[in-house]
Amino acid sequence: MIFTETRGNDQARPAQVGFAAALLSPIASFGGIYSPESMPGVDLDFLEHHLASSYKQLAMALLLHLDIDIDPSILQQALDLYDRFDDAGDPVPVVKLDDRLFVSELYHGPTRAFKDMALQPFGLILSTLAQQQQQQYLILTATSGDTGPAALETFRNRANIRVVCLYPQGGTSDVQRLQMVTEDGGNLKVIGIHGNFDDAQAALKSLLSSASFKQRLDELNIALSAANSVNFGRIIFQMLYQFHGYLALVRQGEIKLGDEIILHIPSGNFGNALGAYYAKRMGLPIAKIVIASNANNVLTEWIKQGSYDLSKRDLIATTSPAMDILKSSNVERVLFDLFGAERTRELMRQLDEDGRYQLDAAEHAQISDIFAADDCSDEEGSEYIRQAFSKGYLVDPHTATCFKTCLAAEFSDRVNLIYSTAEWTKFASVMDNAINGHQPQSDEAALSAVAASAGIKVPRAIADLFAKPIAHPLVVAKQDIENEILKFLESSN
Ligand SMILES: *Cc1c(COP(=O)(O)O)cnc(C)c1O
Repeated sequence: MIFTETRGNDQARPAQVGFAAALLSPIASFGGIYSPESMPGVDLDFLEHHLASSYKQLAMALLLHLDIDIDPSILQQALDLYDRFDDAGDPVPVVKLDDRLFVSELYHGPTRAFKDMALQPFGLILSTLAQQQQQQYLILTATSGDTGPAALETFRNRANIRVVCLYPQGGTSDVQRLQMVTEDGGNLKVIGIHGNFDDAQAALKSLLSSASFKQRLDELNIALSAANSVNFGRIIFQMLYQFHGYLALVRQGEIKLGDEIILHIPSGNFGNALGAYYAKRMGLPIAKIVIASNANNVLTEWIKQGSYDLSKRDLIATTSPAMDILKSSNVERVLFDLFGAERTRELMRQLDEDGRYQLDAAEHAQISDIFAADDCSDEEGSEYIRQAFSKGYLVDPHTATCFKTCLAAEFSDRVNLIYSTAEWTKFASVMDNAINGHQPQSDEAALSAVAASAGIKVPRAIADLFAKPIAHPLVVAKQDIENEILKFLESSN
């Protein structure tokens, strides 16, 4: 598989790279990103052949079919990390809620959110490539709560990689914060900052453009990479479980091979949705990819009206914080795939300069042929959490937004598959409020209250967090971040 640049080439960078190179340095010319030049197809014979395959067997076959420049033995080691999920034989259970509603639970990994699906194998591959190149890499992340724990967990004690994770103090759930600050491992540094997620992201951005910081990294012989979903190394592991989910529905007798299904995806940075887009492009029978937004409904507006408009928006804090995003990085890859590099560069320039762009009618028609969308308020989300709970199912506030998109009349007689992106335990206070009507309280109390209402125990991995020693007590002001990171890099070099 060959990767090329979404905004064309500046004559300084390579115009085409392999998967390994795109993974190690994901940023391309003119601020673009690397995207597949073409996508190989799969036919019904391929699907039929894999009806009885395990998740890992299917994933391996798809990765080999995509033909990436990573040794198959390394891919196998990476996929073997799914053995650490709750059920090694079925890391992604597909659960039936009723005759037309199914849930693909993507959160059974070590940090209880779907980020593990990609970051677990990605961590092993990045570290292996870095060792082969004898190069040290630094991963810098700012997290609103799910990427941080998953990145720390995958890179802990992995050679040639160091991770610095910035989180907003008070801006994550207690569970998410504890998942980060209790991660030991000499190659990890977790720093709380005074402020919200925007402040954490802004701090990261200013660090990345700081000449003194870059120079010091050069002197220490440390290169920068990225673990967010601009990195195709993450996307590739997010375009496999669509095939698994489809085949699970065939196996369970819910559909026949070749029948089309509807996917519903709670979206923020559009990484999960992009994986579904590529799966559809490869030929998986998906009639529509339905995007669920929260009150930050810029993606819904884009799909319904063809305009991507940030000019009159401020970020709204919701009960589904991983979807509190206005500029979804991966939309760019859809633009590139459908309209080419020249048009993508023009649209992204308009977005940067004017805060908005408008697709023309023909372009918009192509988008709405593939995608549908709707937005869900926090109040509606709470109601869906309550409704699901009354039927014995615990659904987190992100996934709950999809219960709204599933209600659309056009999907009422279809087979709908929802991607569930987190375990309820990561958002216990919101769950407790929705289910028990309690005012927001500590996660520890809220976990117990929800578990009691559901007649279950708080899962061990979550309950144990509250007794684990804190490895990273540091909380600093913005201006002290650079210094703290350099101290860490110098002491661990
Ligand atoms: C990251 C995340 C999302 C959004 O996924 P994108 O790929 O960024 O669209 C949704 N829900 C949860 C729980 C997440 O952690």
